[in-house]
Amino acid sequence: MSFIVQKYGGTSVANPERIRNVASRVAESHKAGHRLVVVVSAMSGVTDSLIKLAREVNPEANAREVDVLLSTGEQQTIALLALALHGLGIPAVSLTGAQAGIVTDRIHTKAKILNITPKKVLEHLDSGHVVIVAGFQGQNEEGHITTLGRGGSDLTAIALTAALKADTCEIYTDVDGVYTADPRLVPHAKKIAEISYDEMLELASLGAKVMQARSVEFAKKFKVRFEVRSSFNHNPGTVIREEHAAMEEVVLRGVSLEKNQAKVTIIGVPDKPGVAAGLFSALADSGTNVDMIVQNVSLDGTTDLTFTINKDDLPPARKVIEAQVAKIGARSHTAQDGISKLSVVGIGMRSHTGVAATLFSALAQAGINIQMISTSEIKISVIINESEGPRAIQVVHDAFKLGA
Ligand code: ADP
Ligand code: ASP
Ligand code: MG
Repeated sequence: MSFIVQKYGGTSVANPERIRNVASRVAESHKAGHRLVVVVSAMSGVTDSLIKLAREVNPEANAREVDVLLSTGEQQTIALLALALHGLGIPAVSLTGAQAGIVTDRIHTKAKILNITPKKVLEHLDSGHVVIVAGFQGQNEEGHITTLGRGGSDLTAIALTAALKADTCEIYTDVDGVYTADPRLVPHAKKIAEISYDEMLELASLGAKVMQARSVEFAKKFKVRFEVRSSFNHNPGTVIREEHAAMEEVVLRGVSLEKNQAKVTIIGVPDKPGVAAGLFSALADSGTNVDMIVQNVSLDGTTDLTFTINKDDLPPARKVIEAQVAKIGARSHTAQDGISKLSVVGIGMRSHTGVAATLFSALAQAGINIQMISTSEIKISVIINESEGPRAIQVVHDAFKLGA
């Protein structure tokens, strides 16, 4: 008998038939004698339509109320799955995030989990129930409902695995595991048998939405090994775990593409201490997440500063940028969306050379212009035109011979 936390994502519970499919899989595990906690997402599309609804009612919707609304998506599926399990004669009980004892900070719509007191979960498990917990939600210390950021049901599952000291965590989704690239973009991408936390974290942060990046960070911190698998078959999936020596033998683990980026250039920035600090502090204070930053060599006492941000942050960031351009005495600024970030990731890059050369040559041969470059120990990212993204990821994937 094992103690298992399973998580089923939105597409796996998208309609009554799929909910019944999940119920029969859960029933199988229950009948095999396992102690089971099942985390579910909202049915696919529900969270998006709730966000849209809130904006239609009030474009500047209050974040606390947005969380009250968004949490209803998962509340539907926990009840539906419990009902489906009852239909199969399995004792099951549904709990909201708050009832499961998930306590978060106060940052509505992207709250962090502070602690979990899973008293009720354990009580129901001890009385022989399958416990179904609503993903993506908790409550803050004042008792207000919070949500954990998009894709946050992954975090609920991993955090519950750690808090309950469960034996395994299985993340069920609509693909067979983590692939060398998004199989929707690169159809011949290959399933990865095992991947280190750091590689998964980079891929997830750089556009591979198969796992929420924060959930991977949490898993790394609390050493939660987990497996990503399909809810539509019984194929083995991808194990995400601490790294081991053999993993470095593979030069590249995968390629990812992140759309919805914007590039801002501040032209004629006076080249003196404190200017960058002022600009980026103002952007941080406004909640804008700045990604890549490039500063040119100074000419005539001024320089150009280019950085990327999420496209959705551009409208509010513009006001801050305009104010800063005036304040620091820069000449002007330009802002452009329609760009993407393509990244290659692998801990093997620490010990293998030539990755940058292969990446840049592949893009050059395909006639794709690189606008910006950034590197870290285990990744290289380039900014390219969004329209060239799908072709770029294919040629890069081929150049590194990652395909099946
Ligand atoms: P869920 O609703 O189960 O949480 P998501 O839609 O959040 O599922 O994540 C699964 C999707 O992630 C897949 O359908 C796939 O298109 C996408 N994806 C992006 N990059 C990758 C990758 N490297 N490997 C597997 N899937 C990926
Ligand atoms: N329903 C939430 C979302 O769509 C959380 C999740 O699916 O993990 O982002
Ligand atoms: Mg997801």
